[in-house]
Amino acid sequence: MKIHEYQSKQILQKFGVCVPEGRVVFTPEEAEKIAAEMKSEKYVVKSQIHAGGRGKGGGVKLASNPEEVKDIASRMLGMNLVTHQTGPEGKIVKRVLIEEGIGIERELYLGMVLDRSVSRLVLMASSEGGVEIEKIAEESPEKIVKEYINPLTGLAPFQARKVGFSLGLEGKVLQKSVKFMLALYNAFISCDCSLAEINPLVITSSGDVMALDAKINLDDNSLFRHKDFMELRDIDEEDPLEVEASKYDLNYIKLDGTVGCMVNGAGLAMATMDLIKLAGAMPANFLDVGGGASVETVRNGFKIILSDENVKGILINIFGGIVRCDRVAQGVIDAASEVNLTLPVVVRLEGTNKEQAEKLLRESVLSFKVATNFQDAAEKIVEIMK
Ligand code: GDP
Ligand code: MN
Repeated sequence: MKIHEYQSKQILQKFGVCVPEGRVVFTPEEAEKIAAEMKSEKYVVKSQIHAGGRGKGGGVKLASNPEEVKDIASRMLGMNLVTHQTGPEGKIVKRVLIEEGIGIERELYLGMVLDRSVSRLVLMASSEGGVEIEKIAEESPEKIVKEYINPLTGLAPFQARKVGFSLGLEGKVLQKSVKFMLALYNAFISCDCSLAEINPLVITSSGDVMALDAKINLDDNSLFRHKDFMELRDIDEEDPLEVEASKYDLNYIKLDGTVGCMVNGAGLAMATMDLIKLAGAMPANFLDVGGGASVETVRNGFKIILSDENVKGILINIFGGIVRCDRVAQGVIDAASEVNLTLPVVVRLEGTNKEQAEKLLRESVLSFKVATNFQDAAEKIVEIMK
């Protein structure tokens, strides 16, 4: 689950990570009021959307007094912010963070993520902070230092010191950076994060080490033990189709292709996507309707798939292990006529009562193409769509 910058900062602060003072607001009036209460010499107004690159896109602005904060907030709230991470359609800004302005000495980068290839968390740091870290990783990877963390001992202070040294820090600032990294690690473990990124991590003009920006992703699979995190979810920031699908208990992920897929089982869904690609097209989505594949789930699956304008054809790949294929076929026929399906559909059913199922589909007034096997199914739908 993704959360906003201000929420990430609130969580990190509880673990002793140093962050600027700030408050989130929803209106220009609130923005002015909060700024006046903060009594700072400088302010920063920051758009809160679930994407980075806001600075370059005009979503982060400095102000020198509460009136100016109000003025900037009124222009930012409601604006469609486009950054390299939002895609060309952008995101509407609905909340802004008002922060005290910080005098910056240096901008650094600090990140923590699971490296699956070694089954360990890795702490990454770079002296080139504030800019797109993806670019540094690509063009000059030697500028990123990495420290792998033993899961049994956790991040050791000597490792944090090593990272601090490599960033050119010394004395009190080095000590503060070590404290910062250890606090970040504690927060990461305690909150079951899947990613933490501090870009920029700044050395302030008064010698403090502070998270000027903060991004945390929480592991969805751990949310059951962090009930209080559920209220951090901001549905406005999520893909509307994915939100809709989650209401129906469907595992749906929107992708960029044109072949809508409806499959039961995540593994089969992944394999189906691979075969579509091998056949020369791209899947429009991942959709696992679950083992049961009832009329209800098939109907909901159709609705979600058809809401995506890019979809030009549908491939249904269902294994009738728990359910009987003829039941699924009847469900597909009923649901398709209900939703007024006009796109080409290829169906591949395998398992119990497969023959009856194919008969039903062939005899239906709707023109389904029945595939004999998995690869045939992918090739057929791609061929028809051409
Ligand atoms: P992002 O572009 O979405 O990653 O947003 P950031 O929070 O990283 O802000 C972008 C840039 O704005 C930072 O790299 C800083 O250079 C600048 N910035 C943010 N807050 C402050 C602040 O308090 N003082 C100053 N001087 N600059 C700031
Ligand atoms: Mn940033």
